[in-house]
Amino acid sequence: MTFLSATLTRVKPSPTIAVTAKAAELKAAGRDIIGLGAGEPDFDTPQNIKDASLIAINVGHTKYTAVDGILELKQAIIAKFKRDNSLNYSTKEITVGTGGKQVLYNALMATMNQGDEVVIPAPYWVSYPDMVLLTGGTPVIVTCGIDSAFKMTPEQLEAAITPKTKWLIFNSPSNPTGAGYSYDELKLLTEVLIRHPHVWVMTDDMYEHLAYDAFKFCTPAEVEPSLKGRTLTVNGVSKAYAMTGWRIGYAAGPEVLIKAIRKVQSQSTSNPCSISQWAAVEALNGSQDFIASNNEVFVRRRDLVVKALNDISGVECPVPEGAFYVYPSIAGLIGKTSASGTLIDNDETFATALLEETGVAVVFGAAFGVSPNFRISYATSDEALKEACERILRFCANLQ
Ligand code: GLU
Repeated sequence: MTFLSATLTRVKPSPTIAVTAKAAELKAAGRDIIGLGAGEPDFDTPQNIKDASLIAINVGHTKYTAVDGILELKQAIIAKFKRDNSLNYSTKEITVGTGGKQVLYNALMATMNQGDEVVIPAPYWVSYPDMVLLTGGTPVIVTCGIDSAFKMTPEQLEAAITPKTKWLIFNSPSNPTGAGYSYDELKLLTEVLIRHPHVWVMTDDMYEHLAYDAFKFCTPAEVEPSLKGRTLTVNGVSKAYAMTGWRIGYAAGPEVLIKAIRKVQSQSTSNPCSISQWAAVEALNGSQDFIASNNEVFVRRRDLVVKALNDISGVECPVPEGAFYVYPSIAGLIGKTSASGTLIDNDETFATALLEETGVAVVFGAAFGVSPNFRISYATSDEALKEACERILRFCANLQ
């Protein structure tokens, strides 16, 4: 008998965090590493937000707060949902947690029973299936390959739903592909959901503001208001406001669910950091102007990376609608051997050999459920991206 729980043996450590940690370790050891693993903006948190946190410290907002967030932040979140998504909520329908990750986890903890199923379109963010496994549920993976632009069709959703389905986890723009569902595409999915009233929707809208070109973000409860009573709309300040380390995520949903999430949080972490909450109030209520200028930079970097990758024989990289990731296929490279003799038999060996032989850290596709691919986070400087793309090009050109 092992000391560790049987549940824990069913999950793995987060691969995105593992790759980021590995790159940091190699860098600290003096290696010339370009980290394209971590999914976080390289921009600094805007000054007005930092100032709000300093004020919070100085006026003594340094004590426990209400478990699921201060009233001022809930009001800022309500205003945000109204402004951006035409959704109306009351404070009893809002919860704040230590990052979107905790909110998602709490919601699953609060609702899942042994054997409940959760439909998860793949490629998925690495933590969705493992969170479901941690709560005793069964992830039902729907594979959405490069041919369908990494998006789930209504037919696929219909086929995945069973009487045991509790949730659909939806994420657009997506981590790891950057694919975004248009209004029409999402509408077709919501039509399927209308036919299955026992299925709830957990939508992870973390990349809402990172939407490019003509792509217009939309969220399930906005597209189909009749789903609002069974939708948890999750968002946070990490990506749009360059606040990953502050750990503030939030969600809106039916009061009964929000209350249950609060109960879970009251028995685990209690409130998210009081200072970060006041910073998040300023993020949501303050000027939003920098989002557009940050996005111009992201689009430039996306185009740079997509072009460089598509110039490599054996690599195919679709142009994503949002987020700061690309998810190229390396189907054309499988079976080749690297300069130092490693057989590239899957995307994990590709990513490992790429890191060892060129110092470029990416996350292998199997971690996100669709292979053979890899994820690049292009939220880093143009210079680093250019250098990384040159190294990837050389690495691939040398494959035999
Ligand atoms: N969401 C980011 C990523 O995918 C942060 C790391 C994590 O929590 O997975 O890289």
